[in-house]
Amino acid sequence: MAKTFQLQIISCDRQFYDGPCEMLVFDGLDGEYGVLPGHEPMVTCLTAGELRYKVDGEWHYAAISNGFIAVNPIKTTVMADTAESPEEIDVRRANEARLRAEELLRQKQSIQEYYHVQAALNRAMNRLRVTKRHMH
Ligand code: ATP
Repeated sequence: MAKTFQLQIISCDRQFYDGPCEMLVFDGLDGEYGVLPGHEPMVTCLTAGELRYKVDGEWHYAAISNGFIAVNPIKTTVMADTAESPEEIDVRRANEARLRAEELLRQKQSIQEYYHVQAALNRAMNRLRVTKRHMH
């Protein structure tokens, strides 16, 4: 069995990663998923959270927003709205986004607006969690 599979991580505005990978871990709809070389084919949803992938024995991390993932035995493609490494995350911007969302949630709004703001808050909190975990 091969030790690696090809991993491609694409966000709306760029290719985040394209190369070999030994293991991938991401948050799916019903919990954490792990992908190793030879994984059976599947397509599933990716929820906003932390994604990690191992290259040459070293784990790399990314804050990911919602998307899809297509797995087959030799190649896995992650398509997410946004992807940032911990080093790329602007903590101040994420904090401002969090405060803005929290303020909007205190105001009366339609259900649609509510979900929109809740998703923005979720993205901001996720970015803050990922930097907190990996930046010291
Ligand atoms: P904001 O309100 O600050 O724009 P957002 O959650 O609405 O935050 P997104 O729509 O998720 O932003 O992302 C838009 C683009 O900005 C993407 O390319 C994303 O990677 C980038 N981005 C968003 N927030 C940050 C951040 N805190 N640090 C670095 N890049 C960010």
